[in-house]
Amino acid sequence: MTEMADYPQTRRQPSDPTPAVVPTHHPSPRDVSFSIQTRMDSGLGRTGVIHTPHGQIQTPAFIPVATQASVKAVAPEQMSAIGAQALLGNAYHLYLQPGAELVDRAGGLGQFMNWSGPTFTDSGGFQVMSLGSGFKKVIDMSGPHAPDGTGSDDDTAAGKNRLAHVDDDGVWFTSHLDGSKHRFSPEISMNIQHQLGADIMFAFDELTTLHNSRRYQETSLERTRLWAQRCLDHHAGLTAHRSDRPYQALFGVIQGAQYEDLRRKACQDLSAMQAEFVTDHGTDRAGFDGYGIGGALEKKNLGTIVSWCAQELPEDKPRHLLGISEPDDLLWAIESGADTFDCVSPTRVARTGAFYTDYGRINLPRAQFKDDFAPLQPGCDCYTCAHYSRAYLRHLIKAKELLVHTLISIHNERFVIRLVETIRTSMIEGTYPELKEQVLGRYYSAEASDPPGASARFSVTP
Ligand SMILES: [Zn+2]
Repeated sequence: MTEMADYPQTRRQPSDPTPAVVPTHHPSPRDVSFSIQTRMDSGLGRTGVIHTPHGQIQTPAFIPVATQASVKAVAPEQMSAIGAQALLGNAYHLYLQPGAELVDRAGGLGQFMNWSGPTFTDSGGFQVMSLGSGFKKVIDMSGPHAPDGTGSDDDTAAGKNRLAHVDDDGVWFTSHLDGSKHRFSPEISMNIQHQLGADIMFAFDELTTLHNSRRYQETSLERTRLWAQRCLDHHAGLTAHRSDRPYQALFGVIQGAQYEDLRRKACQDLSAMQAEFVTDHGTDRAGFDGYGIGGALEKKNLGTIVSWCAQELPEDKPRHLLGISEPDDLLWAIESGADTFDCVSPTRVARTGAFYTDYGRINLPRAQFKDDFAPLQPGCDCYTCAHYSRAYLRHLIKAKELLVHTLISIHNERFVIRLVETIRTSMIEGTYPELKEQVLGRYYSAEASDPPGASARFSVTP
C-alpha cells in the first residue's frame, strides 16, 4: 500500500464551479491502491480495501449504479445511509446527456450529483454496441452459443436494426435519444471519462456475444487488446495534462467469452501493458490500476471464468465483475476472486414492484399482501423496513404513488449491500462456507415460504 495524498473531503455546493480537490502534486497511479486484508483458506476470494482520492472501498463491495448521475429514485444521502461505498455512472449516457464537458465544469461526476465518496464510470462500450442500438436487444444476447464455436457474427434481435458499426479504430453508433450519429474510440472514451472525473474508469473494449464464432472472438480480442494499450497511453497523457485533478484509476477490461485460453491470454496481455506517467519524481511506467471482467457470461460458467482471470491477474490489483447482483452469482464471483460488482437490478426490480428477501424475490402487488402489516423483510435494518409495511407499499403501487419507487429501491439496494457485507464478515471470521450454505438454502429453496415474522404466504419468483 502506498501513502495517500492529503485531499480535502469537504462537501461543496453544486453551483460552485471550482474543482473540489486541489492536489499538491502530480496525480499519479500511486494515488490509488489496493491492500488485501484476508484470504480465503480455500478458493481465490479475498477481503481488502481500495484507496481512492475520494475515500476507501471495503471489498468485496457492491457498487450501486447511477447510470445518468442518479441512482433511480434514491438520493445520495439515502444511498450513503444504507452503506453504499461508491456509485457507478455511465459514460455513454452522460456523454449524450448532459455532456461530459458540463459534468467536468461542475467539478466531476461526484460533485455534480452531490456524492462525496468514490465514483466509477464504465467506458460506454457496452451501451454503444448494444444499447446504442436498442437496450441490449439489437445484438441478440439471449440465446445459447454454438457449442462448436461456429456461431453467427451478425446476430440482431427480431425487428431491430444494427445501429452500431465496429471497425479497428472505434465504433460508429446512433444515439438512442435522437438518432444522431456519434463516434467512440479508445481516445474519445478516455477523454469523456476524464471529463466525467470518476475515481475508477474502464478501458474501451469491444462487446461480443455468446453467439459470435470462435474466429470472431479471436479477432475481437486482438482489437480489444490494441484498444487497451491506446486507452492506457491516452490516459497517461490526460493525467499529465489535467494535473490539477486528482488521479483517476483505469481498469483494463478482460474479454474472451467462454474460452479459457482467450480469457487467460487477455489477462496476461493486459497485465503486462504499461504506459509512461509524469510524476513528482520524473516519469514512472505503470500499468492498469485494476481489471474489469466483461463480456457475456453464462451463469453456470461465471465462477469458473472469474477463477481463470483471478489466477492470471496480478494479486495486488482489484478486479471488478460487470453487471451481477443475484445472491448465487455474488457468492461464486467473490469466492472466485472478484472484489467489486455493479448492477442495475435492485432499482430496476423495485420499479416492477418486486422486493428481495432472504427467501427469494417477491412480487408485492399480489393480493395476499393487501393487509400484511409486516415489513418487506422482517429484521432488515433499512429505512423502509423500519417504517413501512407491505400493505402500505402495496397501496402506493396500486395508487401509482411515486414514493414507492424510492422506498422499495432503498430496501433492494440495502439487501444486496448487506448481503455482500455479511459475506465479507464471514470471510474475515472464517465462516464463509456455512454462510454460503445458509444463503443459498434459503434464497433458492423450493419450499421457501414465510420469512420469520411475516404474516402472509408468498411465492418466490423464479
Ligand atoms: Zn429493508
